[in-house]
Amino acid sequence: MEEYWVKTVASVKAQVSPEVYNLWIKPLRPGNNLADGRLEIFCHNDFAADYVRSHYGTLLESAMAVERGTHQPLAFRADPEPRIRPEKPESTEPKAQPAATLPTHEPKTQPVASSQGMGLLERYTFESFVVGACNQFAHAAASRVADGPPLVYNPLYMHGGTGLGKTHLLHAIGHKVLKERPHEKICYISSEKFMTLFIDYTRMGRVNDFKSQFRGVDMLLVDDIHFFAGKKGTQEEFFHTFNALYGDAKQIVLTSDSLPQDMVLDERLRSRFAQGLVVDLHPPDLETRVAILKKKAIMEGIDFQDDVAFFLADAIQTNVRELEGALIRIFALSSMERVPITMALVKESLRNTLKNPDRRVIPIEEIQRTVATFYKISPMDLRSNKRSREFSHPRQIAMYLCKKLTNHSYPEIGEQFGGRDHTTVLYAVGRVNEKQSEDSILARQLQSLTEMLSH
Ligand code: ADP
Ligand code: MG
Repeated sequence: MEEYWVKTVASVKAQVSPEVYNLWIKPLRPGNNLADGRLEIFCHNDFAADYVRSHYGTLLESAMAVERGTHQPLAFRADPEPRIRPEKPESTEPKAQPAATLPTHEPKTQPVASSQGMGLLERYTFESFVVGACNQFAHAAASRVADGPPLVYNPLYMHGGTGLGKTHLLHAIGHKVLKERPHEKICYISSEKFMTLFIDYTRMGRVNDFKSQFRGVDMLLVDDIHFFAGKKGTQEEFFHTFNALYGDAKQIVLTSDSLPQDMVLDERLRSRFAQGLVVDLHPPDLETRVAILKKKAIMEGIDFQDDVAFFLADAIQTNVRELEGALIRIFALSSMERVPITMALVKESLRNTLKNPDRRVIPIEEIQRTVATFYKISPMDLRSNKRSREFSHPRQIAMYLCKKLTNHSYPEIGEQFGGRDHTTVLYAVGRVNEKQSEDSILARQLQSLTEMLSH
């Protein structure tokens, strides 16, 4: 399956722009064959899953059908463990395998503790982390810990709300250690993974193997330990792991969404967690949000004006993950529709995100009727196969307006235009955007059509 997938991705890569490929296609990972016959494809998050499904689902399915000779539908979904998946398929060295596929012989290397393929996400480094008042304490502690012995903060316990950079800092520590002291064995693991592994190994009667994987590490990075709340058996096992490492003067770093005292935890664990340094992360202030946006834009090689960055940072105040999601949408919109990132584009992308309830829902048929009347043809002509410019030009205009004025996806719009493919709609939107920047008459026509439709 992996092999087909690599080929499928390569063939799709040739058909889309590099931006689209990097943003949407490259991060995809194949999962399991589902009972209903579909193949699971993991995306970065729910938004990405929806987006890829509606924009590139058909393209991926048909590319894969070509590679394999048979058609299999794809099921796009958010990756349950996005943080511990390596970004590059080449380095997909399984860190630990699920019970069903665990080798029955003794593994030569210790899967969990190996430094290679431990699943650190490349982009989560100290260099890409923006320091502000909200996180400077956590950042300073994390970078001190990455410097290694003498251990001053053990364990380091970082807590804060979702999307504020805990996982990012944890990976950053891992990267720095691997870079500066490559011989050290570090282990990054999510609490959920710790628990599933523990259960799997226990079921196979190999608890000692499980234990030995962790006992040999120089540094243990455990993400989201609030997940342990109320899970007694796993807590007990973690307590032993913790003590063994702590006793050997090995660094332990933990993240959580709450303070040790606010979690349903065994009292012994709670006091262990609290005995090191406890630091918190807060939501970023406006300046930090702007700095984060600008840094991400630079990393993507995209030009992002100050006023636009401020506007966006002001509109999204909750957390960095949300901010990042909005930015990705804007980059995608700009690259697919071939327009620069302007205030208008950002506003449009936010309007779709926030699903403004005041916005009148304009049916696609109404857009078709209005455009047809404007160009003195019939709505049927827009949905027909007629290819002469007399029809194709209004058709592109109508598709463009559907994308601009409704929340319908490209495939949905294609469907309403005589069952056309979503790539045709994508092309039309790009063409109209290009044309209107050179053709002021067209720009005015679009303006009046938009006004007629949004009355
Ligand atoms: P948490 O683990 O606290 O829920 P993450 O570490 O997963 O949050 O962060 C969510 C996203 O926001 C990540 O993509 C991360 O890179 C980004 N992020 C968070 N804080 C910062 C920051 N200070 N600088 C740059 N990126 C950040
Ligand atoms: Mg996290």
